[in-house]
Amino acid sequence: MLILLSDAFDASLPGKLEKFGEVTDDKGRQSEMEVVLIRSKTKVTREYIDASPNLKLVIRGGVGLDNVDQVYAKEKGIQVFNTAAASSIAVAELAFALMIALPNHITAGDRSMREGQWIKKQLKRTELFGKTLGILGMGRIGSEIGKRAKAFGMQVIAFDPYVKSSDVAEMKTSVDEVLGASDYISLNMPLTDETTGMINKDTLAKCKDGVYLVNTGRGKCVVEEDVVAALQSGKLAGFGNDVWYSDPPENSPLVKEPKVTMTPHIGASTKENLLRIGEIIEQLVGEYVGKK
Ligand code: NAD
Repeated sequence: MLILLSDAFDASLPGKLEKFGEVTDDKGRQSEMEVVLIRSKTKVTREYIDASPNLKLVIRGGVGLDNVDQVYAKEKGIQVFNTAAASSIAVAELAFALMIALPNHITAGDRSMREGQWIKKQLKRTELFGKTLGILGMGRIGSEIGKRAKAFGMQVIAFDPYVKSSDVAEMKTSVDEVLGASDYISLNMPLTDETTGMINKDTLAKCKDGVYLVNTGRGKCVVEEDVVAALQSGKLAGFGNDVWYSDPPENSPLVKEPKVTMTPHIGASTKENLLRIGEIIEQLVGEYVGKK
């Protein structure tokens, strides 16, 4: 059995999998592989599947499966798994880091000092304490963010069409209710037809003036041009962003916008998470081999 590591994983992973078969990172052997391990870079499209006649198992180290044609995989009898539970804390901590960085002007302060400026008087901070955080998508990551927000003394409200109650958030019955009441908004829903472009000029108009937006979900859940316009008009006070239309972004207007604090899709990239992902992959491949 050939296992192809198609994207970047923890260096310990090949050693964990050797007991199940031959492990390679040689993409030239795609036509031989029975198991492929991917993160977000490899796109398991219809064409990719057609070019992989021996493929039986796809494991996505991470959560979002929008880079896998799950319908065609099913049709071809290929099993698809993710390692959803592993990444929640890693992503929640990055979302929170962005949420703290924005009102504290961490990047502007750092940048100005490197340029020899002392802009102490311009950098007026605001506190998270007592503010309302609105979470769109109250799943694993949203819940971890909510817990952290509570510890900071924030009110937490959320909208999720499939989650009716939560220990950490007051659930609202519409997106608009969350948008209209939040000082901070965190996007934590998957990319679906429904969530594509969900944050756009119309929904931004329903937000409070001076709201902070953080996106660690998926880039295409926002209309980038509309976010930039809202930043420039002051509707949005800042945007913390980890996710992009493509990795890396091509001609994204966000990259040049000073009120954006950005990271290169590193939500899941903690050392601890990569180890957890490796452990789950070892278990999933073991179960697959056991059932063969
Ligand atoms: P999850 O499935 O536990 O939670 C997602 C929640 O979104 C679910 O509860 C679902 O009901 C809800 N949802 C679906 N449609 C919605 C809608 N229209 N409006 C509001 N909520 C809706 O998944 P998770 O583990 O919390 O991950 C959430 C997303 O975060 C993933 O789908 C992925 O795209 C993204 N993610 C990003 C990174 C990163 O590196 N930045 C890492 C992991 C996951």
